[in-house]
Amino acid sequence: MGIQLLANEVASQIAAGEVVERPASAVKELIENAIDAGARFINITIEGAGKRLIEIADDGAGIAGEELELAVTRHATSKLSTSAELFHITTLGFRGEALASIGSVSILTVTTRQADAPMGSQMRVEGGMIGTVTSAGAPIGTVVRVENLFYNVPARLKFLKSDSTERSQIDNLVTRYALAYPDIRFHLKQEGKISLQTGGRGDRRAVLGDLYGAETARKMLEVISDSDGIRVSGFISPISLTRSNRRELTFFVNGRPVQDASLATAVLQAYHNLLMVGRYPMVALFIDMPPEEVDVNVHPTKAEIRFRSRDAVFSSVQRAVRRALLAHSPAPGLETGSIYQGGWGQESTATSNTIDPAWDFARDLQTQPNPPEEPGEWEEPASTPTQTPLPGGVPLLRLVGQLASAYLVAEGPDGLYLIDQHAAHERVLYEKFMASRGEGVPSQALLKPAAVEIPPAGARILESELPVLSKFGFQVESFGTNTFLVRAVPTLLSGIEPGAALRVLVEDFEEDETPLAAELEARIIARVCKRAAVKAGKILSPEEQKALLADLENCRSPRTCPHGRPTMIHLPVDLLERQFGRRGAR
Ligand code: ADP
Ligand code: MG
Repeated sequence: MGIQLLANEVASQIAAGEVVERPASAVKELIENAIDAGARFINITIEGAGKRLIEIADDGAGIAGEELELAVTRHATSKLSTSAELFHITTLGFRGEALASIGSVSILTVTTRQADAPMGSQMRVEGGMIGTVTSAGAPIGTVVRVENLFYNVPARLKFLKSDSTERSQIDNLVTRYALAYPDIRFHLKQEGKISLQTGGRGDRRAVLGDLYGAETARKMLEVISDSDGIRVSGFISPISLTRSNRRELTFFVNGRPVQDASLATAVLQAYHNLLMVGRYPMVALFIDMPPEEVDVNVHPTKAEIRFRSRDAVFSSVQRAVRRALLAHSPAPGLETGSIYQGGWGQESTATSNTIDPAWDFARDLQTQPNPPEEPGEWEEPASTPTQTPLPGGVPLLRLVGQLASAYLVAEGPDGLYLIDQHAAHERVLYEKFMASRGEGVPSQALLKPAAVEIPPAGARILESELPVLSKFGFQVESFGTNTFLVRAVPTLLSGIEPGAALRVLVEDFEEDETPLAAELEARIIARVCKRAAVKAGKILSPEEQKALLADLENCRSPRTCPHGRPTMIHLPVDLLERQFGRRGAR
């Protein structure tokens, strides 16, 4: 086949593929157009996860009737005219291809009216075929309706994820713009239900409250810094508020949401050592700098950008986050008093509980009252040698006590065992859970059903997974916008805070969009058990210590927690002998 020019229709579908990859990308472009048009209110309606309908109504400047046809033509824009301007972009759009692209893969209707026009105008584009402009009654502003997205690109439809995932993407996206533009009122309705709405009062913390609930909003730390012409503002979570993935790391550069690995790295480095492994902060940072410092013309979706001085941006972000963290959270170790006295100025003198570290240690080592007298459990294996441990199991252990409120100390026939109480309890809960799964996990009704608020994106996913939850002994139902009512929790977890349990579950659903059912179940259970397991730092009574140890001994895989980390460290007697110089080289 010789070289030939692609038919217009094919070329536009190829181009459209770059801009409109999924329903959320169309929503993004249309929101950006509304923002560029100076809208104060953006009302978004989604049906059929965005495949049946995306409608975005704004009260912005509108489009002149005689320019409507141009607006849906590729490379037609009101935002840019010379190539020099490309390096000084102050609008979100500039490529002039969003409406054309969306129009080539859907049935697009634009209805619009400018303030001084007596009538509105309307036009329809069907699979790239531009119709005629008609006049229509319309309020000031623009309504863009996108119906049957990808109806003429069936291959693209097949690549979309589940409806709940696509809906959740849209929620995430709108959430971000709402945070970035607190002056604009956003309404999002998905499948007839209000999914999120903000007040447009210009207060970002209020938007955080609208989106994540008042409690989370109150906890978030504010970041404000301005140096070298780079302004960094926004909110970051305190170290006590974390997620299991990086999805809540949001960056806007000059009002534009961007994906940039180095910004994420800068933030994570600022949190360095403050978070547990595998936990990530929630961050919404807005970075503003002169437009000529940023090249936004890197990618059709405009999600990638290039900084002229990347290092300066990196260190500004890192410094700003670090400073906010230090300002808001007490330095670790402050409470332990004496060591820091003098070094921390007035704060340390305010700390009255000066504890001698040695005493502290002694208090935590809670030894059993009279262990050696009674023939303890551990003598049994000696007399009944048939009870040798299974491979990977543990021998019967004699409890010595608890150490540092975090470890159990035990003696086995072959040496000393240090057991991580949290990891051990995780394992115990997990195996009990898995064992009871076949006949239905026993469930316990809460005395008072708990209302739990979940961020919009998580809420969409949770809604679709409610039947799965009931299999695990949770009884949860939808209860208004992004709120759920927990009526019962698995008996095994009766002590857990229902809100915490539910949030943990949502994190897990979010992690993996289409996991295998069995794998998903095991992972959810592991995750819930982790949350429910006794924490390090909790003093256990001798009875609790004993019970935990006995339960652990009964586990099939007692040596690791469900996430694969060790539950115990074994110090064999011969190692001890070598360390004390009793054996081997002198
Ligand atoms: P771009 O935003 O890159 O200019 P688009 O294809 O998204 O390209 O839009 C083309 C043009 O249509 C814009 O430049 C703008 O003039 C006009 N337009 C699009 N959406 C709106 C809207 N919601 N309100 C006012 N004008 C709009
Ligand atoms: Mg645009």
